[in-house]
Order: sequence, then structure tokens, then C-alpha cells
Amino acid sequence: LAAASFAEAAELVTDPGLPLGKRGGHKFDHGHALILSGGFGRTGAARLAARAALRIGAGLVTLAVPGAAQMEVAAQITALMMRRVETAEALAQLLEDRRLNAVCLGPGLGIERARMLVPEALRAGRATVLDADALSAFAGDPEALFTALHADCVLTPHGGEFARLFPDLARHLAGPLQSGPGFSRIDAARAAAARAGCTVLLKGPDTVIAAPDGTVCVHAAAYGRAAPWLATAGAGDVLAGLICGLLARGAGAYQAARAAAFLHVEAARCIGPGLIAEDLPEALPAVLRGLG
Ligand code: AMP
Ligand code: MG
Repeated sequence: LAAASFAEAAELVTDPGLPLGKRGGHKFDHGHALILSGGFGRTGAARLAARAALRIGAGLVTLAVPGAAQMEVAAQITALMMRRVETAEALAQLLEDRRLNAVCLGPGLGIERARMLVPEALRAGRATVLDADALSAFAGDPEALFTALHADCVLTPHGGEFARLFPDLARHLAGPLQSGPGFSRIDAARAAAARAGCTVLLKGPDTVIAAPDGTVCVHAAAYGRAAPWLATAGAGDVLAGLICGLLARGAGAYQAARAAAFLHVEAARCIGPGLIAEDLPEALPAVLRGLG
């Protein structure tokens, strides 16, 4: 089983033949990520994701914010842009701009707002990351989500979110990582990706990334790259933002999830114990420099 490797991430980020490695060009050539924020008092998660998307090299990043949270967000953003989005119609209108090529929904979004906005975002057909509340909102009816998903989507559940969407697979999460005689976490992620019809990144000390065609990889503890201090508030939101940024830059869904998982752990290892989620985007330049 292949690990998400240093060499592979380096190639993805620096190869001029791949969209991420392209040098030069205008910021509009580097994609435009749209991150949907939650309401007043819960905008931090989306801001973490947005900062990660910017740091990984999305040319532009816009936060879509409900009116009541606009001041809160505006006070704390600099290179990010902000648009007011309160309804599914407003989101549809925003997504008429074809330059918005990747979307992130979930971190801090709120269940109600997720129910309203996720179907509209998926209808727009952009490369999309669904995390946190965007997954939990469909706990009662996962099929409604699966039918709306497309191949350019990435789901990033932790164990609890995974169990809500795939209750019949959840009992395998406590089992072994590697395929053995029994069903494993790897098999569970694979089955989930096949069912969802898109890439599934199952988070944990060993994150499993599975594509719907059965391709799978694991990162990082099993390969000696553990970063237990990553288990901290907001770390998952940064990961979602990294994936969204890579999607905006033109990476495929599985490729983006795999590279993001790698870079996330490297950023965490760059900081070490004492890490808080805010540190992760700030550690990215050093990680990227190290990739050549
Ligand atoms: P979330 O649950 O959304 O906050 O995401 C948590 C992040 O921390 C994910 O990227 C997990 O893969 C990672 N993580 C959780 N527990 C551990 C652990 N024990 N060691 C290393 N990484 C972890
Ligand atoms: Mg989370």
C-alpha cells in the first residue's frame, strides 16, 4: 500500500507540468476558492480554512458570510475577500462567476445553513470539499447527499462524521488499519468512496484517502510521520481549506486530498507540540520551501 510520500507531494506542488507547479501567470490563473462561513460567533473555522487555501496557493479566496457575521469576519481578514450569502439563491448567483472553481462547505457552517447551501453548491458542479456540518447535516438521509455528489467532490469525515453517513461501516473503524482477514479502516473508507461516488478522506492518526475506483492510500502514523498534537481544535478545518486550495489550483479530487493530508502533517511536524490550528497555515511556506 502506497503512503502519501514526500516525493509525490513535492512533484505535485513543484512540477511545472502539473497545475500546482506552474510558475508565473496572474492570480486569476491560480484558481479562486469559495469558503462558506457560518454565522455570528462561529466564523473562525471558515477563516482557518480560507487562510489555508490562500497559503497553499489559491490565487483568490472569498469567504461567503451571512450578514450578521460580516463585521466579525471583516475585522479579521486581510488578503481574503468577503461576500454576503444568506440564501441558496444568493449562493447560486455567486457561483454564476465561473472563476470560482472550488468550494469548501462545512467548517463552522451550522446544520441549518448546511442543509440550505450544500445542495445548491453541489448543483453548481464545482470541485467541492464537504466537511463537518456539511456532512452531519445529512445524518438522517445520507442518500440525499450521495445522489447530489459528483466525482470532483472530497468528503473529509472524522470517525464520528463517518459513522453518521455510513452507519453500517462504522463498526470497522475500531478495527485494524491494514486489510487483514477482517474488514479494516481502509476497507471502510474504500466502501464509503464507492458508495458516495467521490473521494473520501477518513481522518485520524492514520488518515485513509480512498477514491471511488478503489485507489487508496494512508498517512501518516503508519509511516513514521505521526503528529499527535494535530488532534486540536480547528486542525480539520485547515485540512479542508488545504484541499479546497489545491482543487482551486487545478488538482484532481484524490490528488488534492492526498497532497493536503501530507502537507497538513508536515506543517504540524514543523511546529511540534504546542501547536494550535492557526499555526498550520503559517508553517506552510517552510514546508513548501522544503519541497523544492
Ligand atoms: P477534526 O476532527 O476535523 O478536528 O480533524 C482533526 C485532524 O487531526 C485530522 O486531520 C486528523 O487526521 C488529525 N488527528 C486526529 N487525531 C490525531 C492523532 N491522534 N494523531 C495525529 N493526527 C490526528
Ligand atoms: Mg472537524
